[in-house]
This record gives sequence, structure tokens and C-alpha cells, in this order.
Amino acid sequence: MRGFLNFLFFSSAKIIRRQHLGFKDECAVVGVYGHPTASYLAAVCLFALQHRGQEAAGIMAGLRLHKRRGLVRDIFNKRSLNKLPGNNAIGHTRYSTAGGKGLKNAQPFMAESKFGRIGLAHNGNLTNTAKLKQQLERKGVRFESSSDSEVLLQLIVASESSSLSEAVKAALKKAEGAFSVVVLSPEGIIAARDPHGFRPLVMGETPSTGDRPCVIFASETCAFGPVQASFIGEVGPGEMVQITRQGIKRQTYASAPESYCIFEHVYFSRPDACLDGKSEDARRYEMGRRLAEERPVKADVVIPIPDSGKPAALGFATRSGIPYRMGLVRNHYIGRTFIEPSQAERDNGVKLKLNPVRDLIEGRHVVLVDDSLVRGTTIRKIIRMVRAAGAKSVHVRIACPPTVSPCFYGVDTPTKAQLIAANHSVEEIRRFVEADSLAYLSLPALKTACGKTRGYCTACFTGKYPTPVGHLINLP
Ligand code: SF4
Repeated sequence: MRGFLNFLFFSSAKIIRRQHLGFKDECAVVGVYGHPTASYLAAVCLFALQHRGQEAAGIMAGLRLHKRRGLVRDIFNKRSLNKLPGNNAIGHTRYSTAGGKGLKNAQPFMAESKFGRIGLAHNGNLTNTAKLKQQLERKGVRFESSSDSEVLLQLIVASESSSLSEAVKAALKKAEGAFSVVVLSPEGIIAARDPHGFRPLVMGETPSTGDRPCVIFASETCAFGPVQASFIGEVGPGEMVQITRQGIKRQTYASAPESYCIFEHVYFSRPDACLDGKSEDARRYEMGRRLAEERPVKADVVIPIPDSGKPAALGFATRSGIPYRMGLVRNHYIGRTFIEPSQAERDNGVKLKLNPVRDLIEGRHVVLVDDSLVRGTTIRKIIRMVRAAGAKSVHVRIACPPTVSPCFYGVDTPTKAQLIAANHSVEEIRRFVEADSLAYLSLPALKTACGKTRGYCTACFTGKYPTPVGHLINLP
């Protein structure tokens, strides 16, 4: 009982976290240029991007920095934001992928340089951190954290270039892997993406008090609505956008085959985020529609795994003509099950979070639809729950291919040994999860549903990484 109460207490302290039990969210960055209350706007944008990281958040404005562990709404209030004056700000919400969870790894990072005090916020993971860090340490640089993002900042600080934009460019050219960054300096803001464009970074504008609109950078367009910003474009792969008093300067500093993370479309980005004129909700609906075409099943009801399976389940139901019903109700005030320390508490976690609606399930053949299947342990508990509620049969449909490889580009993933599809056939997984049938969406259909047939990183489905990662594969 004590363990259960501890679990409840621990969970309720983290009430708005997204639920997913495999691939976990990454980070979000924002930049606000040219608004008298830039730090307020940055906080509002970060709040809209909270789903990308809930461990820590920070904002740098003017010469000051405020960062803490916890949720955006708990860290920023009128008092803390009033201490962050200035027309320009950058911000970050963190889910640790590289470096540890402590406050010292929270972002933005700030440092003194010959260009004045500069700050950096980063989404993604560098894949050559160890090498770059060694080079900098040999030059006498001391690090405060174990974060790859601090390495990126120190590369800028250590640069011999005479202008900040050249220093940033030189640092970005040395970095490998995934990075969408915003850099704040006394001159203004620089935003940039790695040449492959793994992680998103979009640009918008909102009215300001001056003669020019305020420019906003954010990881997803869903940050724009709450600050009445309109979308003006993406920061392209390998592009650097600099905003100063002189205006906006855009340049391509490097090029490589585009490798946008397809898992952003499958799960990470919020359903209302929009890219290439299409919402993520529309893409996920299309994944479900194509899944019904590729992997049909005779059943009485389609039930989504809440919340991330909803758009795909709706697409599946519409295409197959099987009624869509909310046969599993989610309690939104319980945290993510991965935080529970023991298996018994993890079991409690699923039961606390999801409850079956018996009337919709009893005596019916059920199709459960989810966006992805990573370890298989959670879906097995859900299937047992649905059977206990009286289902005649339970079929599982997954709106992406089997996940067989971990991510090295900024997403916290289980190891290959923990990825059930890396080590088992679909039939073995079906038996493990105790489903009557199990099927996945094919990779070509996923790409088509996302809108393009090329230009994606699909490494977690194929094991084919767009950049060299062999040196990282056996790291703990
Ligand atoms: S490995 Fe998977 S999660 Fe990582 S960037 Fe590629 S598609 Fe995205």
C-alpha cells in the first residue's frame, strides 16, 4: 500500500506529462526577437511546447537567465519574468537525451565571449560530442555540464572568427548529428538547423510596438497561436537565419540529403502542429486510413489507445467503416508510467491511467489502434484489460512500421535489446502481447501518409542512419 501511495504522490506531481511508453519526447526551443515583453512571449510559446520536454525549462533575455527543473507553468510567473527584461529572448524545455537530468544540464546555456554575453538553446543530439569536447578541453575550456549543447556554445565562444555569425557558422560546421538551435547575443538572434534537418524549426511573426513585427522561432507551429503569430516559413536544413537591427539575413551554410525525423509526424509533434501546409493530425489520420487498406480486419468497434492513437484510429475507422468509439478512458491527472520504479507500480500505472468502457467492449470484436509499439509491455496490459471487459477478440493495428533501432538524434529511446521488434518477429510479438492479430503500417505507406516519399530519417524502422553513428551504438 505504501508503494502505491508513493506512486500516486509521485505521479500527481507531474500531471500534464504526455503518456507514451517507449520513444520519449525530446526538447523544444523558442526565440523571440523585437518585442518589449519578449520573455513573456517566450514563456507562452514554451508552455505550448511543453509536450516536447518536461524535466526543466529556461529563458534567457537581455543578459539574464532563469532556469529550473520542472514544468514551464511552475517555473515562470510574473515575478520571474519581470526579472528577464529586454526585447529579445530565447527559451528551452528539456527532456534529457544527452547529459544527465540535473539543473546543470538545463538550457539555455550562457557564456561570456568576445561578442558579449551569449546564450544557446538546442534541440537534437550531436553525434561527435566526445571528440569536440576533447578538442576544447585541450584548449583549456572547462565544462559545467555533461550536455552536448554546452559543447556547441563553447565552440562558438572559442571560435577565432571576428563576427558572431561567422563564429556560429564555424561551430555548426564542426558539429555532427541533429541540431536546431537559437543563439541570443547583444546583436540579436541567430537560428539554425543542421544540414540534414532532423529536428523542426519554424519562423513566425506577430505584431509588436515598433515599426517591424516581432519574429518568433519555435520547434513547432503550435507555439504561434497563443502569441497570435502567423507562420512565415521554416528555417531550412543547413540554413542560418540572423536577425539584428539591420534586418533578417538568411544563408545556407552547409548542405546534405534531407533527413527529417519521420517520428515527429508519427508521434512527437503536437497534432495541431503544421508543416508543409498539413497538420500532424491530418497525417496521422491518413496513416490510419492507409493502415485499414493495408491491414484490414473484421471487427465491431475501433478503439484508440489514448491519446496518441486517436487520429490514426479515426482514419482506420473511417476507411474500414467500423464504428470508432472511445472504449478506453484516460485519466489526465496521472503521470507517465516510465517514472514508476517497480514492475508492480508500473502495473498500477496502466490501471490508474486507463479504464475500459464495458458497454462499448463487452461481446464485441475490438480493434485497438496505436501510433507505435516499442516494448510491448503496455499494450499487453491494455489487451488484458479489454479482454477482462468482455471483448470477444482483440486485434492490434499500429500506424507505423516495427521499431527496430534506437535514435541517436535527440530522442530518448529504449536500447535495441528492449525494442521488441528488434529481436522478435511480428508473430512472436503478437503472441507476447496476447492479441488475436497484430499488424503494422508499411514504411512506403507511412511516407506517403506523411506527404513525401523521400527526405526522411527512418532509422528507427530500418537501422539505416543518415550519418555515421557506429561509435555510439555500444555506448551505455
Ligand atoms: S532514428 Fe527515428 S526517432 Fe531518431 S531521428 Fe531518425 S526517425 Fe527520428
